[in-house]
Amino acid sequence: DELIEDDDTPVRWFRTNLIKTNTDSLLREFSHLRKVNSIDEITNTGVIYHDEFIPNLFGIHPREKLTSTDAYKQGRVIIQDRASCFPAQILNPIPGKDKVIDACAAPGNKTTHLASLLKNFKRSIVAFERDNKRINTIKMMVEKAGGLDCITIHHADFTSTRPQDFKEITGMLVDPSCSGSGIFGRAFDEQDSTIDEDEAREKLNERLVKLSSFQCTIVKHALSFPNVRKVVYSTCSIHDEENEGVVKQLIEDEEVKKQGWKVSKRENVLPAWPRRGHPEVFKGYENAKELAEGCVRSLPKVDGGIGFFAVCFERKLDGDYDDN
Ligand code: SAM
Repeated sequence: DELIEDDDTPVRWFRTNLIKTNTDSLLREFSHLRKVNSIDEITNTGVIYHDEFIPNLFGIHPREKLTSTDAYKQGRVIIQDRASCFPAQILNPIPGKDKVIDACAAPGNKTTHLASLLKNFKRSIVAFERDNKRINTIKMMVEKAGGLDCITIHHADFTSTRPQDFKEITGMLVDPSCSGSGIFGRAFDEQDSTIDEDEAREKLNERLVKLSSFQCTIVKHALSFPNVRKVVYSTCSIHDEENEGVVKQLIEDEEVKKQGWKVSKRENVLPAWPRRGHPEVFKGYENAKELAEGCVRSLPKVDGGIGFFAVCFERKLDGDYDDN
């Protein structure tokens, strides 16, 4: 879920960085581009599409020279794939009310998207990144986005944090390492010519078992924070095992059940986005369809960007009132 410089990218997506500007001003900077109404109309340079699913997000032709504009160089726009904008949008934190953790933060696309949604509210985001190199990337990205007052960056393993030390946190993003199989150009799923098909499938299965076990552990840790009401889990994988499979393991977990967590319904998770989760993974559940509808998916290229998955866990705590 890094910046995609692949020539095959069907659309180059970028969002307004609300810390530095607003969409009206930005559109004035891009007034030389003709507005179109769908991504299918982005067949050449010279046009811009204002997305209908993610506010303040735009699509242009990949050959449009975005990185040489002042808007890009000065951090007024941030290049981010559309589906990669789903998690922060689903969490939808309220400025001045919510404090959130981004558990797996580098390079910082979703962290800075959260800061944009939180109107850069002072100290409202805590970001964790354990990797020695990637920690520098996120520091640079947060600085360029103008989010230093809002985002506190910790170079640490999120699973080593003590939930009791974060009583003020109300929401979380968990976007852990995954197979990356939704990102085009990654060789992960391509066949290794030195091994046969069965062997390749076996290797893939072994890797998916390890990855999904790590993904369950890290989301379970997020679900154990005392005042958190919403946790959004996402991957850039196309594999059920890392997506609905992780959701299934978590909702079957006794501790998670005891803590009151449920999978959010479609009405709270980008309801207008048409591509939803795979119900067959929840086979045997009487609400299998509803669980799958609560998940969002994006297919690589077909849906205008990378392959992606997101789901939201939510719960009510004592003192919460239902405002529906
Ligand atoms: N959310 C990021 C974005 O949108 O820019 C992309 C995150 S990338 C898929 C996963 C990141 O999580 C990697 O940088 C990895 O080093 C980090 N990570 C994995 N396990 C972690 C852990 N236990 N604690 C903190 N960071 C972790």
